[in-house]
Amino acid sequence: MSATVLVIEDNEANLELAKYLLLAAGHTVMTALDGQQGLAAVQREAPDLIVCDLQMPVLDGYGVLQALKKDAALASIPIVAVTAFSMPGDEQQVLSAGFDGYISKPIEPETFAAQLEQFLPSRLRAVQR
Ligand code: MN
Repeated sequence: MSATVLVIEDNEANLELAKYLLLAAGHTVMTALDGQQGLAAVQREAPDLIVCDLQMPVLDGYGVLQALKKDAALASIPIVAVTAFSMPGDEQQVLSAGFDGYISKPIEPETFAAQLEQFLPSRLRAVQR
């Protein structure tokens, strides 16, 4: 059983890479190019996991997080920040804000999907080689 993962990312190269890696890991992938589009996608179909950039136009990753956490129907969807903010302290700031996880850019093709697996319910984890 695989998961439905929503990737919210304004950089199209990063979006395509994340999508490719998640599809290769056996997941179904939804995409959105900013936070507002991302929230609209969540309303259409709640994903099992959200992977979200922080710096985006219209609505950033923190805005997405806030909107999800104040909606009881959506608050339990795990949301992982993927960000170029990788100075000491940035991970702690992201986790303190309420994100379930933190992955620093650049996206590592070898490990990206596996890093995200831990945030899925076990029944939805793709079969790992
Ligand atoms: Mn961005």
